[in-house]
Amino acid sequence: MERRIYGIETEFGLTHSAPQGRPLGADETARRMFAPVLARCRASNVFLPNGGRLYLDVGSHPEYATAEAATLHDVVAQDAAGERIVDDLRAQLQESLDAEGVGGTVHLFKNNADSAGNSFGSHENYMIARRTEFSRLVQHLLPLLVTRQILVGAGRVHPDGPPPFGSLALGDGRPGYSFSQRADHVWEGSSSATTRSRPMINTRDEPHADAERYRRLHVITGDSSMSQTTTALKIGISDAVLRMIEAGQILPDRTLADPAAALRQVSHDLTGTAPLELAAGGHRSAIELQREYLEEVTRFVQRRGAHHDRLDWVLELWDRGLRAVEEQDSSLVDRELDWAIKKKLLDSYASAHGMDWSHPRMAQLDLAYHDTSARHGLFHMLERRGAVETFVAPQDVERAVVEGPPTRARMRGRFVAAAHDAGVNTTVDWVHLKLNGEHQQSTVMCKDPFATTQPDVEELIAEITAGRA
Ligand code: ATP
Ligand code: MG
Ligand code: MG
Repeated sequence: MERRIYGIETEFGLTHSAPQGRPLGADETARRMFAPVLARCRASNVFLPNGGRLYLDVGSHPEYATAEAATLHDVVAQDAAGERIVDDLRAQLQESLDAEGVGGTVHLFKNNADSAGNSFGSHENYMIARRTEFSRLVQHLLPLLVTRQILVGAGRVHPDGPPPFGSLALGDGRPGYSFSQRADHVWEGSSSATTRSRPMINTRDEPHADAERYRRLHVITGDSSMSQTTTALKIGISDAVLRMIEAGQILPDRTLADPAAALRQVSHDLTGTAPLELAAGGHRSAIELQREYLEEVTRFVQRRGAHHDRLDWVLELWDRGLRAVEEQDSSLVDRELDWAIKKKLLDSYASAHGMDWSHPRMAQLDLAYHDTSARHGLFHMLERRGAVETFVAPQDVERAVVEGPPTRARMRGRFVAAAHDAGVNTTVDWVHLKLNGEHQQSTVMCKDPFATTQPDVEELIAEITAGRA
């Protein structure tokens, strides 16, 4: 497939802390945060003028799903825009709590685990061709997903050492730092049950497109990224490997004997050298597996040409990220990759104050790195200081807040905005746009995610703006 649709879903952590008074419970905080959405749209599950989806399911984790993007640039911009949109709701709630005299502080976190041991997700969506043999794709992709965390993991402090996993010895067992947040919460390779067993690839077949031509690959094992460059690398390397698999390239069998165990081993081994057992016998380290993938992709690109204009950037950072682990020198990527950016911050704090990983302050700083607010968030503080790299220009993020990328998301966004301005009731999902009420032809299908315009959608929008809807 030459062009691809990408989308990222993010579940956020939310808390209210009130040292002087009684903090709101998690559910109540989330409900109150969504009150303005409910008032404006009569629902807490809405599509936005930028084509993205904002919702609150049962529970207390607000979710933002980006609009469909067709480039690395656009998916990163949409993801950053989503964080802004949800953080705006957080800021509004803070204002109203202050005005009511409730006070305290509302914190929104773009991370994947809370202190109570719960985990919440970051989903990556890649459109793939239906004709691609799915089991072969999963077979060749899983070892990549298990090991790419040494590049794109969000990093996590373990004040009590790695959480136990059967009889497996993880790291040195002592308080420490791991590459990934999500790794300790994943239980198997691929499955259609997301909550019970927590797989890496969700095989539920919901393509959100013409099901005869396309399928949606739903990767649910990754960490949310604060850093734009980490997001770009995460999507960029996964896409590149997918292309190689889709092209039918013969690839060696790297099937892991126990992917979930390997995921944890890799996460807790900052040297990248822990031997992972292969199903066919023998062992391979995360570094070795990653080096193989990188070499194969590099050769593939040399033969076939680059499929997008940031591919050289992806390959360079991929290589540098592996060198950082090989040479045990995280300064090689401490402006680009979350785990290294955060580790640098924690290391310098720890040495200035004579602390080790078990000190409660380390876990607090870890959490604060993921705080989305400009005032409390440590990642955003580094960004303001110019201490980290960005992938898209600030004005592109601002634009992504209000406008969908040039895919069908652009149409959906215009439809949603027009209906909202005119006070017209609609039902929208990724594929359908519908005017509620007595209308002929009121439901339009957008089966082609790449289409930026469609005559029947234009008609619907015209009806709305002419006041006929
Ligand atoms: P769940 O929240 O239960 O995991 P889900 O993954 O089906 O459900 P959403 O949260 O609505 O649903 O997110 C869908 C994601 O898929 C969005 O980020 C969207 O951009 C992306 N997407 C939409 N259409 C396609 C497509 N044809 N191919 C790949 N991704 C798509
Ligand atoms: Mg979702
Ligand atoms: Mg999902």
